[in-house]
Amino acid sequence: MRHFPIYLDLAGRQVVVSGAGECAVSKLRLLLKTRADIAVFGTEPVRQIREWAAAGRITLARRALADGDAKGAILLYAANEDDTEDARVAYIGREAGALVNIVDNLDDSHFITPAIVDRDPVTIAIGTEGAAPVLARRIKADIEERLPASLGLLARIGQAFRERAALLPMGRKRRDFWTRYYSGEGDAALKQGGEAGVRAKLEELLTDAIETRQRDGHVALIGAGPGDPDLLTVKARRLIHEADVVLHDRLVPQAIIELARREAVIVETGKTGYGPSWTQQDINALTVDHARKGAQVVRLKSGDPAIFGRLDEELDALDEAGISWEIVPGITAASAAAASSGLSLTKRGRNSSITFLTGRDIEGFAEHDWRDLANPGAGAAIYMGVRAATFLRGRLMMHGAAADTPVTVVENASRPEQKTIATTLLALPDALNAAEITGPAVLLYGMEARKAVQVAANPIHEKAGVL
Ligand code: SAH
Repeated sequence: MRHFPIYLDLAGRQVVVSGAGECAVSKLRLLLKTRADIAVFGTEPVRQIREWAAAGRITLARRALADGDAKGAILLYAANEDDTEDARVAYIGREAGALVNIVDNLDDSHFITPAIVDRDPVTIAIGTEGAAPVLARRIKADIEERLPASLGLLARIGQAFRERAALLPMGRKRRDFWTRYYSGEGDAALKQGGEAGVRAKLEELLTDAIETRQRDGHVALIGAGPGDPDLLTVKARRLIHEADVVLHDRLVPQAIIELARREAVIVETGKTGYGPSWTQQDINALTVDHARKGAQVVRLKSGDPAIFGRLDEELDALDEAGISWEIVPGITAASAAAASSGLSLTKRGRNSSITFLTGRDIEGFAEHDWRDLANPGAGAAIYMGVRAATFLRGRLMMHGAAADTPVTVVENASRPEQKTIATTLLALPDALNAAEITGPAVLLYGMEARKAVQVAANPIHEKAGVL
């Protein structure tokens, strides 16, 4: 980050704009939202600037900016659309101790002006370090669309109510009160009863909050999906944002964890074969402990929590402690892997069922009904199967599976570092070695990818190849 965003108090401060053409107009439109004293210098002011001057909103000097004009100014905009003139006035500004912006000249400017979404007193500044103005405009358009026009008014009324709201103790109770106000109830009151309606609503919500007990603790067991934050459900996103405590597995990426509030307690409860790791009992105890204290807990698991996520053990612990819970499903690794490699998990005439199986269980490599899986056309999504690959191949072939049964391996499905390999049952262990699969990977057995990016050397079966 080269430019640090701050909000500058311009009330009563002097801002100088050199230039009185269209370029100056676009800066002035923004500056006029503030309570700054604005002085414009330019020999041939365009109509809009003359009108603003006539209305007393700016002072206009119909001449070029001269030494001494920037004295006491806090900001100076060089908007002359002329490099030499801009450089001259920028020098005057710098000498006078003002922060200088030369329009469209990032390198010689002290600061840049962001794209702004204005719901005063809520203002959102969007900056791309000058790298992508088009992107800034797109983000602005997105945000404009998302924030109701009434937001500014609601925030102003809310601001005036802050003292009353201080009757509520700091922390969750007060936060819940404001959350209700800003997540729909305030807006609805405004539509029905105007500003008076909003004030009445605030009083009503306050009474409610004073009279009701603290919310009980609650646990949401949430599927975080395969890694891409765009593959989270809307509900998951909302609950993560509202959580007091987030307990997440190692596979949940940072970009998703960052959706939590800054004040939320965040704990990684990683279970790895290497290094320090959490036992399931410790995780259960910690979840129960936070919920007992009244926290809204989010237990984030990769993929779908109901698939190889030890969900029942956690639910048993919560039931035993009498804590309320809900499950929010997520996109499981197999679905993401199928999507990214362009294959269907079921196919008419090939497999009318699909098995989700794990390569590992408590006792080591997991046993399954191999005979069914060995039938031609059978399909399976194999989780935690990389280290069990040789074992899986042995069991399946022993029960009659064809050596050239296709297997699609997807490592890091939906993440930027995703890798897809097309291979066969016989070549599977070698293919995994050759491709150096070390991240989480799912094996789609009996399924051929339309898109695969990398293939391990496979001298025996021609079939394995880049698709
Ligand atoms: N509940 C998770 C599975 C947890 S078990 C789900 O529904 O996806 C962990 C295993 O899931 C990993 O060993 C790997 O086999 C698979 N996995 C998780 N995330 C993955 C990803 N992004 N790409 C490929 N496989 C993944």
